Amino acid sequence: MRSHNASVIANLAFGRPAGVSRSDLARESGLSASTVSAIVADLMGAELLTSSHLARSSGGRPPIVLRFNTKRNHIIGIELGVSHVSVVLSDLAGEVVWRNRVEWYMPEDPPGTLRLIGALVDEARARPEATGELLGLGLAVPCPVDALTPDRLSPRLFPAWSEVRLAAQLHHRVGVRVFVDNDANCGAIAEFYVGAGVDIPDFTFIKVATGVGAGHMVQSHVYRGFSGIAGEIGHTTVDPKGRPCRCGLRGCLEAEIGSGAIVEKALEAIAAGRESALAEVAGLTLADIVAAAERGDALALELIHDAGAHLGVGVANLLNLMNPARVIIGGRLAEAGDLLLEPLRESLRARALWTSVERADVVISSLGEEQIAIGAAALVLRAALADLSLFWGSEAAVPPVSAPVARLWRNGGVGHP
Ligand SMILES: [Zn+2]
Repeated sequence: MRSHNASVIANLAFGRPAGVSRSDLARESGLSASTVSAIVADLMGAELLTSSHLARSSGGRPPIVLRFNTKRNHIIGIELGVSHVSVVLSDLAGEVVWRNRVEWYMPEDPPGTLRLIGALVDEARARPEATGELLGLGLAVPCPVDALTPDRLSPRLFPAWSEVRLAAQLHHRVGVRVFVDNDANCGAIAEFYVGAGVDIPDFTFIKVATGVGAGHMVQSHVYRGFSGIAGEIGHTTVDPKGRPCRCGLRGCLEAEIGSGAIVEKALEAIAAGRESALAEVAGLTLADIVAAAERGDALALELIHDAGAHLGVGVANLLNLMNPARVIIGGRLAEAGDLLLEPLRESLRARALWTSVERADVVISSLGEEQIAIGAAALVLRAALADLSLFWGSEAAVPPVSAPVARLWRNGGVGHP
């Protein structure tokens, strides 16, 4: 009970960056003043809280404010993408103090990928911005994380990785606990802590890049479904007569608006004689198409418009199914901004029969390309705030890898690792 109460007090202090008094903490936690004082003394002893006097106001003793010590430790978040690795170094407030990104194709080279991540972690830890000890490593992966085998990448998508125990091997390499989650879930967690999802307990984040995935925040917890793979919105059908998908179905959202699909559509149109500045671009990418749309290229505008309309169908289905207060769109395609949002909203209006759709608030993420890595770092913070033993570094008492992450979160706890 004492450790649960300590976690409650630490969370309250974390949520009040301007500072909080002992009496505020007692009132907000419902704990007695003496219990709060004892816990605060413990947390100050562990340097998790710091205290300072406020300026004297109208005579009497100046009140003491307590603050969560966001520089006590640092956290490293890694996004393992299919063709890049992003790393962020963050303090305990989730503020990114250093970042790096390496283009790297991971599907066929597990040992090289593990070496690269290890080297990036070493580089981050050696930075002068890295205050205190490394608290943990968060890792976002480009596939669903199965609750039964959270330490493995999906063997169906990444056969070369089937024997690799990713988190355990990284733990062995870097010596801190490793927390793994799916990239879209990490995106949702980043929005929840520092983005467009702050103070919104129910929202959905949709990442539209090579693949299309969603992270659902439900009552302030990531909703994972029965086996940890909820949110596979990319393989919901938006056009039954649409393009074939790598999953074997047809007209999946991903097959219509994944970056590969949009590039393919552009190349097909050019091959069919359509005039466009895109015809001049060698090695065409989605970024080229977004840039051309911003310059007014008719073909590029049409491609982004179609993508927005298809995404609108997916979002309408999602709204009716989950009724989130907000939908946040991130990933490469989101860089198209209003060019994407307008046809998306139009598509929603055409389906605005339901209150869930009428009241929908759809926005573009503002967290930029490090968003998923920020969410990976936030996995560590979230786990530590739920179980303060992570701060005490008691490796003997806790498993090295966040193996049961999906199951325990699903049990309605407060994000126990
Ligand atoms: Zn599919």
